[in-house]
Amino acid sequence: MAAILLDIKEDDEVIMPSYTFVSTANAFVLRGAKIVFVDIRPDTMNIDETKIEQAITDKTKVIVSVHYAGVACEMDVIMDIALRHDLFVVEDAAQAIMSTYKGKSLGAIGHLGAYSFHETKNITSAGEGGLLIINDERFVERAEVIREKGTNRSLFFRGMVDKYSWVDIGSSYLMNDVSAAYLWGQLEKIDEIQKNRLKSWNLYHESLKNLEKYGYIELPTIPKECTNNAHMFYIKVKDLETRTNLLNCLKDNGINAVFHYVPLHSSVAGEKFSRLNGKDVYTTKESERLVRFPMYYGLEKNIDKIVQNIKKLF
Ligand SMILES: *Cc1c(COP(=O)(O)O)cnc(C)c1O
Repeated sequence: MAAILLDIKEDDEVIMPSYTFVSTANAFVLRGAKIVFVDIRPDTMNIDETKIEQAITDKTKVIVSVHYAGVACEMDVIMDIALRHDLFVVEDAAQAIMSTYKGKSLGAIGHLGAYSFHETKNITSAGEGGLLIINDERFVERAEVIREKGTNRSLFFRGMVDKYSWVDIGSSYLMNDVSAAYLWGQLEKIDEIQKNRLKSWNLYHESLKNLEKYGYIELPTIPKECTNNAHMFYIKVKDLETRTNLLNCLKDNGINAVFHYVPLHSSVAGEKFSRLNGKDVYTTKESERLVRFPMYYGLEKNIDKIVQNIKKLF
């Protein structure tokens, strides 16, 4: 919906990090855009805001800020670049619900923001679902049409037209009632869910401090102006080989730790639909050292076992 609202067309360019989930790119590739990838910063794994400007061409339309692990990109710098070059900013806030940057909610800073309610996120609408946040009034009316299959049915329901018809392109972006009911229940409990996740996150962080102190691992960084929504707990180890050993060791003990993402610029579809601007200094190297530990509501009683197994390996 964001890509349709911004009128993305063939040959438009969209800037984003290569270290992200495929949905970030697909939204724009489906409108014919070319994706231009920019390297990430190693501390937050977010797009390196100092490398964005050199990726801008006269075809650039959008910058997408992916808030990895719910920790904000450097939004003041990104919004300033967008303003100076007349670009739109779409926040991929899929992982960032309840998180803030300088006191502002993530997803509410760019022109548009997108949340995901996929089963892997902090709250879910029973598997699949999402939310588009519109921070620029120019897009509100058309968004209602696009989500209702390109019809003005919303105006009709409000009694503003006497019949509804096909007025624009669109698709069926409305959430079904069962998913919406499930999400409602999750929203009612969101503070409790967040409190519990943060407790687990802090337990991991405390318990693993010694391993960091002795140089075995790196713990995640939360910059001063950002809050942590405990979407994910990850560490970084020395290299790919250490990561493989750690994952296998945990798996042998019944613990499902995982990694992601294969950088999109090096994927099969990435070769067709994107180019990498500048050098891949950190994207591949840092993604190969990253390990995600289990994180879900009610996890706290299992953390000791997980931590003991991590320590055993080192
Ligand atoms: C989960 C996620 C998405 C969206 O996933 P959907 O399956 O489309 O809901 C997009 N970007 C990032 C960074 C994500 O983690």
